[in-house]
Amino acid sequence: MIANGVDHDTDPAAVVAVDGLTRRFRRGRETVVALDGVGLALYAGELTVAAGPSGSGKTTLLSILAGLDRPDGGRIRYGDRMGPLPTWRHLGFVPQSLALLDELTVRENIELPVLLDPAAAPAGDWSTDRLMELLEITHLADRYPALISGGEQQRTAVARAVRLRPALLLGDEPTGHQDRGRVDLVLGMLRGFAYAGHSVLISSHDEAVIAGADRVVTLADGRIVGDRRATYSPHSLPG
Ligand code: ADP
Ligand code: MG
Repeated sequence: MIANGVDHDTDPAAVVAVDGLTRRFRRGRETVVALDGVGLALYAGELTVAAGPSGSGKTTLLSILAGLDRPDGGRIRYGDRMGPLPTWRHLGFVPQSLALLDELTVRENIELPVLLDPAAAPAGDWSTDRLMELLEITHLADRYPALISGGEQQRTAVARAVRLRPALLLGDEPTGHQDRGRVDLVLGMLRGFAYAGHSVLISSHDEAVIAGADRVVTLADGRIVGDRRATYSPHSLPG
């Protein structure tokens, strides 16, 4: 367990660190506490899975880290590799809704971050062609999202999220629409992305995904109730 007793807020090695994160929602007269004092630091080079039952706060945590929602309390500190503005260059996000643009083809959706920020386009292997090949969507390059399956749309959203090789990649159940074989395909790709020096946090309740993680952070009722690393992780703490 490392969730408690560490001053995440000043952890210089973290790509992002949060401390005392709280988020409440009003539902009629009730107040739902979606996050209840979450402290967590994420590092480059590892794939972390946020696990926990439905309603435990996974989506809320990811939305706040992605800058799409604001906490009611607590602090967020992004590391040096993250800019002041959350652009695709620093932060890739695969939302559960996928949020592909209907009027753009698969190829154009993946290229979108490059069009918005041409100076950020990294040289090297992770071209749109290479990503489509890795994620087995090359044959769909010129199709529109409405004319491909949910799983194919999801792999397109994954490719878009990693296109500019952001320091932090967030995915809300990014294998949720994949069949068994494709879960491993997407997971392997995300793991490779982490090992290339990026930080990856995805939510999942799929045992196969959890088993393939370097680190599993378990949420329950808006709190972190477990935080364990696979023994082979380079970030495993002694003891
Ligand atoms: P998970 O992704 O683990 O299923 P969520 O983060 O979506 O969990 O939800 C955590 C809790 O917060 C749940 O009780 C959920 O109903 C509630 N919640 C999330 N978003 C909202 C919202 N916009 N309005 C009201 N309640 C919400
Ligand atoms: Mg969710």
